[in-house]
Amino acid sequence: MPIVHMSTQRTVRIATDYRHFRSPIDFSRSVDRLLLGTPPKYLAGLDSVILRDSGGFTRREKRLSEKDSTKALVGAYHRATRTTPPRIHLFIDNIVQGPSLLLRLPLIRELLLAGPLFHELGHHIQEHIAPEHRDREATAEAWARRLTSEYFSSRRTKLSLRVLRSVLKLVQKGKRRRRRKE
Ligand SMILES: [Zn+2]
Repeated sequence: MPIVHMSTQRTVRIATDYRHFRSPIDFSRSVDRLLLGTPPKYLAGLDSVILRDSGGFTRREKRLSEKDSTKALVGAYHRATRTTPPRIHLFIDNIVQGPSLLLRLPLIRELLLAGPLFHELGHHIQEHIAPEHRDREATAEAWARRLTSEYFSSRRTKLSLRVLRSVLKLVQKGKRRRRRKE
């Protein structure tokens, strides 16, 4: 059972359900900040964001991640079913590969989590809030770019972001597999 850490002032629940992943850093706090900085209309109907790790992959997720071994599965959007409300799953160990020293910086954590979180939120927006008939993945990526840029532009200067991005790219070069979002 997922452990509920905290919930945002919005209605979205944030929970962790790690099997092998251990970290002194509380990533749910970063997810909370990202959600708090997101216009509430885009979160309507979303039940929860669950922070998991690749150690807890289901059979289907394992299949997905093995389909292309060059990309690590970083997130998935679970549509509503008759019995469960819509949820976002983030695979934190696949998202935060890299030197842990940098992860101590809140901005770096938010930068790493924003892409996968907002991509999956893009699927939710498509599904429940603003249906579009374009390619599903392209639409989710467009939402990810838009929400990421809106989130960061309202709080930090673009320059410091650009600097941090290049630092991240530099230190992570070769260390990470490409990311795969579902
Ligand atoms: Zn996707």
